[in-house]
Amino acid sequence: MAELAPRRLRALGDIAVSQLRHIGPKRTEALSSLGLETVFDLLTLYPRRYIDRTRQVDLSDLMVGDEAAVFGEVKSSSSRRTRQGKSLVDVSIVDHGETMKIAFFNQPWRAAQLVAGVQAIFFGKVSDFRGTRQMTNPVVDVIVGTSGEERDASRVGGIVALYPASGKAGVTSWEMGGFVEESLKRAGPLLDPLDADLRRDHSLVDRTAAYWGIHIPGDMAEVPPARRRLVFDEFLRLQLLLALRRRRLEESSAGVRHPFDEHDLDVSPGSLSGEDSSLVRQFLAAHRFALTGAQRRVLAEIGSDMSSALPMHRLLQGDVGSGKTVVALATLLMAVDGGRQGAFMAPTEVLAEQHVAALRADLAGLTVRDDAVLGGERDLVVQMLTGRVKGKERQTILSGLLSGGVDIVVGTHALLTDDVRFASLGAVIIDEQHRFGVEQRALLRDKGREHSGEALDPDLLVMTATPIPRTAAMVVFGDLDRSVLDEMPAGRRSIRTSWAQTTLEVQVAWQRVRDEVAAGRRAYVICPLVEESERVEATSAVAERTRLATHELKGLSVGLLHGQMKGSEKDEVMAQFRAGEIQVLVATVVIEVGVDVSEASVIVIEDAWRFGLAQLHQLRGRVGRGDAQSYCYLLGEAPNDEGTQRLEALVNSNDGFALAEIDLDIRGEGTLLGARQRGRSDLRLASLRRDEEILNEARQVALELVATDGLRDNEDLVDELRLFVDDEEARYLFRS
Ligand code: ADP
Ligand code: MG
Repeated sequence: MAELAPRRLRALGDIAVSQLRHIGPKRTEALSSLGLETVFDLLTLYPRRYIDRTRQVDLSDLMVGDEAAVFGEVKSSSSRRTRQGKSLVDVSIVDHGETMKIAFFNQPWRAAQLVAGVQAIFFGKVSDFRGTRQMTNPVVDVIVGTSGEERDASRVGGIVALYPASGKAGVTSWEMGGFVEESLKRAGPLLDPLDADLRRDHSLVDRTAAYWGIHIPGDMAEVPPARRRLVFDEFLRLQLLLALRRRRLEESSAGVRHPFDEHDLDVSPGSLSGEDSSLVRQFLAAHRFALTGAQRRVLAEIGSDMSSALPMHRLLQGDVGSGKTVVALATLLMAVDGGRQGAFMAPTEVLAEQHVAALRADLAGLTVRDDAVLGGERDLVVQMLTGRVKGKERQTILSGLLSGGVDIVVGTHALLTDDVRFASLGAVIIDEQHRFGVEQRALLRDKGREHSGEALDPDLLVMTATPIPRTAAMVVFGDLDRSVLDEMPAGRRSIRTSWAQTTLEVQVAWQRVRDEVAAGRRAYVICPLVEESERVEATSAVAERTRLATHELKGLSVGLLHGQMKGSEKDEVMAQFRAGEIQVLVATVVIEVGVDVSEASVIVIEDAWRFGLAQLHQLRGRVGRGDAQSYCYLLGEAPNDEGTQRLEALVNSNDGFALAEIDLDIRGEGTLLGARQRGRSDLRLASLRRDEEILNEARQVALELVATDGLRDNEDLVDELRLFVDDEEARYLFRS
């Protein structure tokens, strides 16, 4: 046979599994139903665990209580019924002359699966049954089944990798291992796109060794370095794509150089500032409070982006109540300082309304230069544009945006419609990012480009109160820079959270609501989450409000807010709640994000287990915004462990970032990355929790590689990345 040239990974994606030995049409179909079409798919199907047969677990050494994986050949099996009528299959296995009993309850089909001669691995806890050791209902991996597959004693004698086999498709872990081994042999030496220096600097084994080491380790010590290399590659590809996207964006766009002087951030409230000082300075000098250290730092980061020639793409993360609004305001003012406009996009009308009110109050008294008016100066103009603003009012605002007569516009998705055009959009802020998709982010940014006639991109700041663990942020928002508000304004008291499960505890919660209202404060009650529809949810909220108003909260003024109400009705209710005419607001999760009523000091969340941890933390953040001690009551028992863990975590911590880490642990990474985009589907082996170090290294390497030549000289890596993007994106990213 001719000398094999090392193969690229992408070439393995071109070898169909049907080309392998022992894989006929039936197997091909079975593998296909598991999503395994090519040799590449098989090589990246990683073992779940290993059984080290070189270090024999001696059946006679097993102690009651041990959890172990044992290998054995079925000697006999029999099925019967217990006196309680349960089905019981008794299996006796033998290994190196030692025997052990295995019992399966309520799995009658085991009798047909585990007949004499079948070899399998049994994973479970060793118990004692009338003086003999046995395993009950262990996990079973059939290695050599009844269908007469070739027995390869050499494989059983070493380290056996266990694959996520699928009974449904009729492929055992053992067979899978055979296919993978065949794939490895067939693939031959693999081309390594990382050069030897780089590998040495980062302690990475070469690629061929990595694939063999993870699938067919001769020694368990080979597994960790193999895994390290493969995890590194997964992260590297991901980060390369993100860095490339970022670079292309920067190459194809020019930003606005907004005027910014960092010293302006150091004025303290109450100090004087001259007529000709910047709006940022005037605003801070007249503000109700001094910036926290974190706000000051983040604004300096933003200011530096704003004043640079590249457009800002920045994510601002700050826990609920950390004070993102003032950062947003100052950012918008930086744009207005340069004679441009700012847009602030909120996910809901309630929030847009709230922001506009806050902005107008906080920006009152500020003036801007305008040559079109007498005296060359006029008040700064803030307008709101939501789906509800219609007719003449809408036309007026639209023409103000087009002429430049409106300086700041606050709105919802309505800002994205075609007829919204700006004279000169300088900065875009998107609040509560998770409600907006990447496309919408781009749409709003493009508004600056299309209509200003300057082809400059506005600066973009995306704000979120949903804490994302750092590692996850690097993966999900890796194309954005990141600022974090990691400090709460001084004097904030932590919210007391209790989980009320007994009738008595629930009574205490309602009594607290009455007490707080009696003291002049206000309360939220969050209705259970109803999955079917918003309509059903609204109906149940209406009923709950009526029930509370006539029972637990009789005599109080109880209002209602849900997603099916008209915008004007919602505003009305919020206004009444702010004013104290409504004392208790019964609401669905519509209030989850951002609602800010500082007199609210207690929140009761019904059927709390139904909500996600991040959502609960957000809901809780509706209180504790003023000076008063605030309370959060979680109602209802949790029907499962996950629910219990979430509620306990919430009771124990007020820290959104800590909760996000816990959430990641409870839910796993799948959910977090669930909404991820193309190119992110490559994390098969890597764990954001376990592999943070490797992620950091890979990101660093990716940034360096892209920074030097945009990957132009690294054909091998580019070729590999093509496995993970579609053609259109590849053309955009890899064009030279
Ligand atoms: P977020 O949007 O991050 O949840 P907000 O911007 O709504 O937080 O701020 C929460 C509350 O804290 C508001 O009532 C705000 O006025 C107040 N606040 C913000 N920054 C400061 C500060 N530096 N000092 C004192 N209070 C502040
Ligand atoms: Mg906010």
